[in-house]
Amino acid sequence: MNSNKLYNREIYATRRWQQLRKAVLQRDKGLCQNCLKNGKYKTGNEVDHIIALAENGHPWDINNLQLLCSECHIEKTRLEHKKNRTKDKHPSTTSWVCV
Ligand SMILES: [Zn+2]
Repeated sequence: MNSNKLYNREIYATRRWQQLRKAVLQRDKGLCQNCLKNGKYKTGNEVDHIIALAENGHPWDINNLQLLCSECHIEKTRLEHKKNRTKDKHPSTTSWVCV
C-alpha cells in the first residue's frame, strides 16, 4: 500500500500530469462527471483515475481520467480501498453514487 501511494505522488508531481489534468478539466468542462451522471451540475476540481492505479489502471490515458468534485472523489476512493481490502470483485460493489 505504501509503495503505491508513493507511486501516485510521483505521477502527480510531474509536469506531464499538470498538462493532462488541464486537458481533463477542459474536456469535462469543469463539471463533476459523477454528479453529471446523476443529473446534477457541480463544479469538479479533482482529476480521478477511473480504474485506480492500484487496479492497474493506466496513469497517463485521458480515457482513464475523469473530473470529480471532492465529495465524489472521497467516496470513490473510500469504496476502492474497501474493495481492495476485501478483494471482492463482484460488480455490485463497484457501483457508487454521488451524495
Ligand atoms: Zn460529484
